[in-house]
Amino acid sequence: MLDSIFRHVRLLGSPTYQGPVDVGIKDGKIVEIGEITALGEREIDGSGHVLLPPFVESHIHLDTVLTAGEPAWNESGTLFEGIGLWQKRKLLLTYEDVTARAEKLLRMQIAAGILHVRTMVDISDPNLTALRAILALRERVKPYLNLQVIAFPQDGIRACPDNEQRLELALELGADGISAVPHLEPTRSEGEASLDSIFRLAEKHGCFIHVFCDEMDDPHSTFLENVAHLAIRTGLRERVTAAHVNATAYYGEAYFQKVLGLVARAGIHIVCCPLINSAMQGRFDSYPRGRGIARIKEMWQAGVNVSIAHDDIRTPFYPLGTGNMLQAAHMAAHLAHMTGREEIDELVRMVTMRAARTLQLKEYGIQVGGSASFIILPGDHEMDLIRTQPPCRYVVSGGELITETKPARTVWFTDN
Ligand SMILES: [Zn+2]
Repeated sequence: MLDSIFRHVRLLGSPTYQGPVDVGIKDGKIVEIGEITALGEREIDGSGHVLLPPFVESHIHLDTVLTAGEPAWNESGTLFEGIGLWQKRKLLLTYEDVTARAEKLLRMQIAAGILHVRTMVDISDPNLTALRAILALRERVKPYLNLQVIAFPQDGIRACPDNEQRLELALELGADGISAVPHLEPTRSEGEASLDSIFRLAEKHGCFIHVFCDEMDDPHSTFLENVAHLAIRTGLRERVTAAHVNATAYYGEAYFQKVLGLVARAGIHIVCCPLINSAMQGRFDSYPRGRGIARIKEMWQAGVNVSIAHDDIRTPFYPLGTGNMLQAAHMAAHLAHMTGREEIDELVRMVTMRAARTLQLKEYGIQVGGSASFIILPGDHEMDLIRTQPPCRYVVSGGELITETKPARTVWFTDN
């Protein structure tokens, strides 16, 4: 007798399992895939829906979520007004405030099928209140959700020299990685120095690097080449991620091709955040306006591992967001001109397999003997998922059914 069997589901992109199959679970593992004759203590009808490994959120800020409108709304929509508002809101941060908002948000993410999250946490506060709250939360949710914590110096490292020491303290407290914001440092050379600092620290501690990189509508914001170069020089390579990189959209073609070659050779990961960046970038442009999308299509085509992140949810930087990863992928389909059949399939990989590679997850995917962690969504194929962005019908973590969401049903009162 198996613990549970999900009957009649379809695995996307699997050369082995083309048609509908049953997935059998025992002791938290997938023990059988195919036509299962045994019975399960719990039997769930998958209705021919799609079964995917869980979504992976590769870039969010759990310490800022659910604060939009506090103390005021970001009326200009710019990064700079967002930073100003956050400076005020963060004076009110307490351990309980961060814990309550982050926990509420994680529950939204889990119901939306996300079981792996990489969060940034601002460490500019001398007491590291937000970091301590999120690290404690990481331990509490561990049985069903994997949370990676990146110490993020929002106020800079050269502009706020105490942050260098705080980054190291954050690692000692248990952070998984460190960040920098080179394009917000006072000068180009200070930006380079901030990158040198975090690569030195990461070499010493063997942690992840996740850089806020070139989140500017500025062709002169070219820190991506420094990140790729340092990743090669230090050998940290696949431990390194460059997030946002919106300035790539403004680079001249010859320079972009040079950087693209360097990024591909370095083997670093690129994370793009199409929801927030399409809303926030281009605010200073005249028409035609840049729309804040990094050149993810060209990077993917050149063999770079690109993932799509949802990023901010209801913050001073972005007032919207539900946590649905398919919404972010849907936005990327438009802004990156990725509406081809193979491109749509790729967008789904960018919020699953590729994001899992960014987080360097050791165990991920659907296979016999692997952890029974997966999601089931209504739809026949990737195109359906991106088109309709359906809620997850079931979310299963380590063999345990965590959430079930009943689909909305339309009732017709006329035959016409
Ligand atoms: Zn961000």
